Amino acid sequence: MPGLFLCGRELALPEDDAYNAALTFMKSMSYISTRGQTRPMSFQDAVITGLAPDGGLLIPSDIPRVADRLPEWSKLSYQDITFEILRLFVDLPDGDLRDLIERSYSTFRHPEIAPAWKVGPVHILELFHGPTLAFKDIALQFLSNFFEYILEHRGTHLNILGATSGDTGSAAIHGVRGRDRMSIFMMHPHGRVAPLQEKQMTSVLDPNVFNLAIEGTFDDCQRIMKTIFSDLQFKERFALGAVNSVNWARVVVQIVYYFSSGLYVMNTTGSKAVRFAVPTGNFGDILAGYYAARMGLPISRLILATNENDILARFFNTGDYSLGRVVPTISPSMDIQVASNFERYLFYKVGGDSRKLDGLFRQFASTGHLTIPRDDKGRVDDLFVAGVGRTSETLAVIKRYYEQYNYLMDPHTAVGVKVAESCVDDGEPVICLATAHPAKFSQAIQDATGKDLAHHEILDRLADAPTRCTVLPADEKRVKDYICAHA
Ligand SMILES: *Cc1c(COP(=O)(O)O)cnc(C)c1O
Repeated sequence: MPGLFLCGRELALPEDDAYNAALTFMKSMSYISTRGQTRPMSFQDAVITGLAPDGGLLIPSDIPRVADRLPEWSKLSYQDITFEILRLFVDLPDGDLRDLIERSYSTFRHPEIAPAWKVGPVHILELFHGPTLAFKDIALQFLSNFFEYILEHRGTHLNILGATSGDTGSAAIHGVRGRDRMSIFMMHPHGRVAPLQEKQMTSVLDPNVFNLAIEGTFDDCQRIMKTIFSDLQFKERFALGAVNSVNWARVVVQIVYYFSSGLYVMNTTGSKAVRFAVPTGNFGDILAGYYAARMGLPISRLILATNENDILARFFNTGDYSLGRVVPTISPSMDIQVASNFERYLFYKVGGDSRKLDGLFRQFASTGHLTIPRDDKGRVDDLFVAGVGRTSETLAVIKRYYEQYNYLMDPHTAVGVKVAESCVDDGEPVICLATAHPAKFSQAIQDATGKDLAHHEILDRLADAPTRCTVLPADEKRVKDYICAHA
């Protein structure tokens, strides 16, 4: 069983029955805000709340240390490792947690959930075996089940409102479809989402799913979402909730595959440590890797990979976090400049000083950049190395891995592999996270290899699937009216 941590130290306590209830309560992790102005709350409240009321992000009050449990964990299934990790962070009875985990991963098409393979010089960790063929399913399948669990216990309903440019909306819709206590209203910019991704959303015909095509850009969708959420009366009346990438539940379930694959690769190679290469946009995926390292998984490097939208790569190489312009690439889920999860990392980087953090973000809001001092070696953080995979390099990687190793990867994954290859030198294994199935980006595969190779039956079947979607002007009032009429 996990120990009780007080001030970072593990206490040995007797385990007789009299202690059990009190222990469960005391041991459950509480969540604090990076901005320090929110009262600590439980896991359930943190997940329902999403963003902290003081505008910060919610983080666990402690990072549990698990190094001594790794030999035992290396023999467990994916679901069992998930259980062992989540129980350190959540306030749920063990039986309920197990049940949630079983249900969340029963929708995956691979028995190992997230298998890892040796491909040429690297290991590839496939995170795309969920319902929408992208890694966001891993978090959103769990989050939807978890929401439903809380709603049943509290006897309430929830209307999820979101804005998407593709992957997140699709994974969220597939998580929520067919559930009794939840509806989802997902806005996407009309005609500006890749046709396949649009089809993945609008072909879901369950009565609790509402696709809204907004006549405007993705920024318009986000603006409408923010305005509606800031109308607290409306938000309360319709019990509006969000599933965006800052929700702590999404980060915590992503910690699991770092452990499962790290332990597996260390076992099979005999190495004492591993490195991970992570294609990065909102800093959510790689943040989970950062927590895994802090918890005691022997990660010697986190290799951060961006496409041309390189604000994070520039930060880790120079200490300067400065806003650029978003340029569209063939890895659209990483076409991001402001990384919403970066604040969690920066909180630790400034030693947990909320006032300092607040100052940095105020500076960023007014000037578009913030700076962190570097160490003597000019490094921002010893754990991270960072690099950029440009479009031409990404296409070349896809082609080479197909021709040399008969392995097809999607353009997001290829960005990670490109940057990883610059680090494969001393034989320590590198695990590259594969974040989408190549068939989701078949045009890029065709451009890279000259052949139409990337297919998946689920996506092929979408071609003549019926769809349902409502087109609305980029007007917050019209979206509200629509919610009123359908919630
Ligand atoms: C969302 C996404 C990413 C980026 O993940 P972050 O958590 O935003 O860094 C990479 N690849 C794919 C396919 C994605 O959908």
